[in-house]
Amino acid sequence: MQKKDIDWAALDFGYHQTDYSYVCDYAEGAWGEGGLTKDHTVTLSECATILHYCQECFEGLKAYTTEDGRIVCFRPDLNAERMEASARRLIMPPFPKERFLEAVREVVGANAAWVPPYGSGATLYVRPLMFGTGDTIGVRPSDKYQFRILVTPVGPYFKGGVTPIRIIVSDYDRAAPHGTGAIKAGLNYAMSLWPYEMAHAQGYDEALYLDAATRTYVEETGGANVILVDAEGRLVVPQSKSDSILPSITRRSLVTVARDLLGMEVIERPVRFDELGQFVECGLCGTAAVIVPVMSIVDSETDYIFNGGSDEIGPVLGELRRTLTGIQEGRIEGPEGWVVEIC
Ligand SMILES: *Cc1c(COP(=O)(O)O)cnc(C)c1O
Repeated sequence: MQKKDIDWAALDFGYHQTDYSYVCDYAEGAWGEGGLTKDHTVTLSECATILHYCQECFEGLKAYTTEDGRIVCFRPDLNAERMEASARRLIMPPFPKERFLEAVREVVGANAAWVPPYGSGATLYVRPLMFGTGDTIGVRPSDKYQFRILVTPVGPYFKGGVTPIRIIVSDYDRAAPHGTGAIKAGLNYAMSLWPYEMAHAQGYDEALYLDAATRTYVEETGGANVILVDAEGRLVVPQSKSDSILPSITRRSLVTVARDLLGMEVIERPVRFDELGQFVECGLCGTAAVIVPVMSIVDSETDYIFNGGSDEIGPVLGELRRTLTGIQEGRIEGPEGWVVEIC
């Protein structure tokens, strides 16, 4: 198969239309047959529930090439399960896990020429999404839905080495206690754009959210979980009492890697903002970058500096990042079933 003629390493994190998307419609109580399409547009009733009441959820994973030339995805079963949970919370019919996995296989396979070669640092970003298409003006769930998967090649997250970022605590909240913070839904993102823009306007890379109820605990940023390393070298993972943190697959995988492969002690617990001074390393984790090291987190009174303010990733997060990317790329043997061959 002839790869597309693209300067893979120079690609940005943008949308580049490929050959195929996957589409499947739900009507009259059942998902249809579904299949590949070359139509990358969606035509909707102006009254579709997605446009008014935001009945929508999505996922994000990557397909990439291993050293020995296989095209693989990392733990796509967890994306399938999380999307089922997101759909249920929004009264949408879950797209069944086995069909999700088959659809990922089909659409990535059909776009194999768009999967960047091993070593380029680029990947094929896979974005499953589901939304209400039925026309309903009263507030109630739609009776029609569409499940789609679009794929787009994206460049390496870090172009010139892994660089630490600076974060400011947001004056706004991301997720209410017992709200929708634990599902991957567009509705959690619309309102995060404003705090994100504010953080940028003040010269920071990201906005950190505290728990909405007490504004004392660390939650996460708009699209990544927080991980910490204490002075004893333990991995500390902030947890909320009320499920307002998105269950990141990268974070869950790092916990396993730290505990089972690197023999580290891992503590998952609520972490107060005013405890941050005790930690020596801090990172954000998610599919796109695996781990982004954090140099500093500030609010109006405090300025917490991690890893001595170095412009490189710290030793513990560095080792975690190397190990997980090594597993993903097939250089290190990881737990069974993590790396799934697509084609
Ligand atoms: C997607 C997402 C993450 C990261 O999850 P991964 O499964 O690791 O990619 C973290 N926080 C939020 C709010 C997200 O939407």
